[in-house]
Amino acid sequence: MGQAPVPGWCRALPRPEYKSLARVPANDGWFEVYRVAPDTFAIYEPHQSEETISYLIVGRTRAMLFDTGMGIGNLRGLTDELTQLPVVVVNSHTHNDHVGNNWQFDTVYSMDTSFSRRNAQGSREAAQAEIQRGETCGDLPAGFDPTAYATRPWKITSYVHDGEWIDLGGRRLQIIATPGHTPDAISLFEPEDGLLFTGDTFYPGTIWLYRPETDLAAYDRSVRRLAALAPQVKRVLGAHNVPAASPTVLPQLVVAFETVRAGKVAPEPAGKGKVTYKVGDISFLMGAP
Ligand SMILES: [Zn+2]
Repeated sequence: MGQAPVPGWCRALPRPEYKSLARVPANDGWFEVYRVAPDTFAIYEPHQSEETISYLIVGRTRAMLFDTGMGIGNLRGLTDELTQLPVVVVNSHTHNDHVGNNWQFDTVYSMDTSFSRRNAQGSREAAQAEIQRGETCGDLPAGFDPTAYATRPWKITSYVHDGEWIDLGGRRLQIIATPGHTPDAISLFEPEDGLLFTGDTFYPGTIWLYRPETDLAAYDRSVRRLAALAPQVKRVLGAHNVPAASPTVLPQLVVAFETVRAGKVAPEPAGKGKVTYKVGDISFLMGAP
């Protein structure tokens, strides 16, 4: 890897927003950890182009891990450094870049969808695409075997449903079903601290809405639902690029998406069969019309 040219996305790092975040030391150089709220850690993977962010949310009796990232670094080793409490994994959705380390954890809550169950069987193809030339930057972790890299299967220990509360001891988070990006996409809402974890339904960056499992009408309903929460939200925490956004993005997201759906935005070509729609600071990668 040492001699490979540095890809463009990586040359743009670190993203300036990280300067104002509190970095937490971690032994594993694959991850960067930031304290984004009290007992709330963003676990960022800046050496892979997805720039995936998982969140460890620590209560008094247990901790929740909202996504497990790429499955390239040893996430379990990292969470063991950050908390001694039992950890329950909940996924924002089951795309490969959010479930890669699920296999390392004993307790995984899942939405009750066939899409989730199929993904829990693991896969190799999507994982392999993530480590092709230009997709990683810097050294892969010692002992990582690129030829063997795959999303390893995991066991779903129980199902969660829209509106359900998960109690971590002194902290309660509500599951908000936000299907659209995938059928099993959820957000997590913590009214006490005004935190809204949005997975891939919103993150600062071009939002991917082109895959076959994406449902644009469902996405439209989901972003409206999140926008209705905006008055109670202090911070929006998405699953890629930067672990903080203002709640003002939520109504903006609704307007941007409606404008696109109404055919009022000119598409820009973005590779085979795909186009980008830009509305102000918000953009969507979608199937070509
Ligand atoms: Zn996704």
